[in-house]
This record gives sequence, C-alpha cells and structure tokens, in this order.
Amino acid sequence: MAERTTLIAGNWKMNASGEMAVTLIDGLVAWPGKDGVEMLVCPPFPYLGPVGALISESDIKLGAQTCHANASGAHTGDVAAEMLADLGCSYVIVGHSERRADHGETDADVCAKAEAALRAGLTAIVCVGETEAERDAGKTLDIVGSQVANSVPEGATAENLVVAYEPVWAIGTGRTPTSDEVQEVHAAIRAGLASRFGDATANGVRLLYGGSMKPSNAQELLALADVDGGLIGGASLKAEDFTAIADAAP
Ligand code: PEP
Repeated sequence: MAERTTLIAGNWKMNASGEMAVTLIDGLVAWPGKDGVEMLVCPPFPYLGPVGALISESDIKLGAQTCHANASGAHTGDVAAEMLADLGCSYVIVGHSERRADHGETDADVCAKAEAALRAGLTAIVCVGETEAERDAGKTLDIVGSQVANSVPEGATAENLVVAYEPVWAIGTGRTPTSDEVQEVHAAIRAGLASRFGDATANGVRLLYGGSMKPSNAQELLALADVDGGLIGGASLKAEDFTAIADAAP
C-alpha cells in the first residue's frame, strides 16, 4: 500500500478575527510537529494573507474554503484559485456540504471548482457526504459514490486530490458514525477512485474523515486503514484541541 502522509486540516469556516487568528496560529506554530503528519489551516478569505505571513516560517500549510471555477472575470465577491495560489495557498476545500446547502453547489459546480484548483496548481479537497435521511434509507454508499464520481475531475492525481468524507449529520453535532461505518465508506471511495484512475492513484489519494472529530475520538478514527487524516471544524479553532488531534495520528 502507498505511504500516505496524514493530513490534519482545519476548516475555520466563517470564524475568526484578526486577534483570534494570531492567538490560534501562535499556538499552532509552537506545536513541535510529528513525523508523517501535515497540518493545514483554512481561514476565511480576509485572513489568508495575514495567516500566511504568520505561518511562513513554519511547516503549516495554507488553504482556502472555496474558489470560483473561472480564473478571472465579472464575478463580484468571488475569488479565483489563481489568486489563492498567489497568496500562498496550496490547498482549497471544494464542495463542503455548507456550500452545497447554502449556495446550491451541485456536483458539476464542485467538479468545475476542483478543476480550477488543479489548473492553479492547488490540491483540491473535495467534500462528500450523505444526509441523515440518506443514511437512514441505506443510501450512503450510493450517494457518496455518485458525489465522488461527479465531483472529482478527470485530471485528478494522488498529489492534487484529497477527498473528505463528511456525513452532513455529523458536522458540528457531536455525533459520528461508528468506526466500521467510516471505514466502509472510505474503502468504497478508494475502490471508486481505483476503478476510474487505477490502483496506484487511488492508493495514493488521501481520504479525510470530517464531522465532529475531536481529541477524544481522533485516535480511533485516524487509526482506520483508509482514513488518512481529518477535516476539522469546531476543534480546529482551539490550538490545544487541533494539535491534540494531530498528535493522535498513528
Ligand atoms: C466541517 O465542517 O468540515 C467539520 C467537520 O465540522 P466539525 O468538525 O465542527 O463537525
């Protein structure tokens, strides 16, 4: 099996102030690091520049929470992947369930954004996940499989693609699927990638779990065979919790 670096990614969502970002990053840069673990922070757009400056002497990576599919143009309020790359980002999250719900982003939109990320030299973190009703109806693998098939662009490689499995009902709720359920979905995602891109690529793509990951459950989740890291919301806003999650990586 390919060696996959664990990715511990913090999605700050629409949280932070300049002052809070400084305090949080101070705590993160003081973290001594861990072999085989990569740490990523994804602040809101206005803080990308300042946070980028604060982490510039560290190994912490910078990412954004979304991007536009186009490289430039008349798209008021939007931000191009090229601009993110220019600011020092190496990752961008696309298709987070909050974007899919709040902004009506479809799989096709997410795929176009992921393509833009690849075009700009960024790694796309493509988010997928079922709703509670879909899980209750036994449709999880179908829904997630179809989201991956339709949201991941053709040019994806082990280097420029990360997939985050985030059950919608687990985000910010304190609830998580069982470890067996997480592993089942991750294995299915990897199998889907293998049938499209081949085993070598699929075995190299990192699959993150997201949804109420915290210090108390991180060790069990991160130990799963096909879990290669976490996409963390709430617990990424406290340096102590975020670094504890990173330390819990196997
Ligand atoms: C997220 O929104 O990506 C997320 C996983 O949030 P939380 O960790 O707060 O559930």
